[in-house]
Amino acid sequence: MLEIKNLHVQLEDEDKQILKGVDLTVEPGKVHAIMGPNGSGKSTLSYVLSGRDGYEVTEGTATLEGEDLLDMEPEERAAAGVFLAFQYPVEIPGVGNMTFLRTAVNAQRKARGQEELSAADFLKEVRAKAKTLKIDADMLKRPVNVGFSGGEKKRNEILQMAMLEPKMCIMDETDSGLDVDAMKLVSEGVNALRDEGRSFLVITHYQRLLDHIKPDVVHIMANGRIVKTGGPELALEVEHNGYADILAEVN
Ligand code: ADP
Ligand code: MG
Ligand code: MG
Repeated sequence: MLEIKNLHVQLEDEDKQILKGVDLTVEPGKVHAIMGPNGSGKSTLSYVLSGRDGYEVTEGTATLEGEDLLDMEPEERAAAGVFLAFQYPVEIPGVGNMTFLRTAVNAQRKARGQEELSAADFLKEVRAKAKTLKIDADMLKRPVNVGFSGGEKKRNEILQMAMLEPKMCIMDETDSGLDVDAMKLVSEGVNALRDEGRSFLVITHYQRLLDHIKPDVVHIMANGRIVKTGGPELALEVEHNGYADILAEVN
């Protein structure tokens, strides 16, 4: 699904190297987790994959199903199936959640060469999906994320994900600031969207999210590179011992 090879990234304005040769392959249907100390480059990796401004790829490649991702505009990446869930979801006062979702879905359908969904079909779909994700109908009518609790924002993001049906979901610390119940809901949402044609890259600080979203593979990122890869037990090791042992081992 996603193949990253020797990815080097620096900031556009400063001569600062952030990613220093990331190698990562995510197979279709798999959930990969990335953990790592603060400042190791996890968010930068997710931004670069989604096409955010300000970063320059100086070396290496990233492909989605064999297509060069780095060559695409952000909208093209979204149309190709990349979805990035932000650490801090934006609030959009004055724009109803439903309108926002419908605009996003139809923009993506257009970019994929599909017909727009009619208002009735969209409504049917959004209601069905909201129900599966236990999202209140009331939340669909309110302005995007305005006054939403942390948990509601995250659930809303899962709803966006469900509506856009991405192939590659990237979640950057979607668990930060969530209480245990909210984290459970997010995890249930993700688990409901797990599918053999859909992959996840879950960036997290906490092992406890991975109790609910069982990853197939866990990577440790440090100083701009993936320094260790293993199974779910690697996350437990981090939880118990921190990063020091692993970093000492690879240095
Ligand atoms: P993580 O998500 O693992 O905590 P980040 O990708 O946010 O790490 O950051 C990696 C490093 O790059 C940090 O040292 C951070 O300060 C730096 N960095 C990232 N983006 C910027 C930016 N726009 N301007 C300056 N420094 C940045
Ligand atoms: Mg950080
Ligand atoms: Mg980060």
